[in-house]
Amino acid sequence: MADATALEHLAVTASTCTLCPLAKGRTQVVFGVGNPAADLMFVGEGPGREEDLAGEPFVGRSGRLLDRLMWEEVGLTRAECYIANVVKCRPPQNRDPAPREIEACRPYLEEQIELIGPSVIVTLGNFASKLLLESTRGIRELRGQVFERGAASVVPTYHPAYVLRAGGEAMAEMRADLVRAKRLLGSAGE
Ligand code: URA
Repeated sequence: MADATALEHLAVTASTCTLCPLAKGRTQVVFGVGNPAADLMFVGEGPGREEDLAGEPFVGRSGRLLDRLMWEEVGLTRAECYIANVVKCRPPQNRDPAPREIEACRPYLEEQIELIGPSVIVTLGNFASKLLLESTRGIRELRGQVFERGAASVVPTYHPAYVLRAGGEAMAEMRADLVRAKRLLGSAGE
């Protein structure tokens, strides 16, 4: 059962977090956005410059692609889903989040998943996929499959920033992964 009030409280707690060194460089914590009772949740890597300034995940070029594919393949808007990241603060120069930062931030993501209770989680790229699937395998190996994680099905796919760079086949594969997520949403609760 989704708990919007508890999610708001968690966002307030996270907004002053100093559990890892990323706190020093951030403009603001980018907690997450969307429907607190969403059936579909997306998990990305971490905020970039535009997200750090806006306080919202995936508002830059990657986000525009995510919005488009979400609409074209799943038929949902970002307001109907929930979007969060592995780390809630921007890593400097958009470097990869460090293991220590990921571990420090992990309880926020776990709690978000618990409170929202999505039936399907789409993990975007290596960091989210490896973390939530507790896997050392890379996204190329993981994608194309569905994994069970507690009450949710996890659909790993590419990070939209990678799809913007790679285009062609990667775009088609990401579309196919989102169709997979849509089918799972349709069958949830049956
Ligand atoms: N990339 C991510 O992984 N998350 C964002 O919020 C923006 C870009």
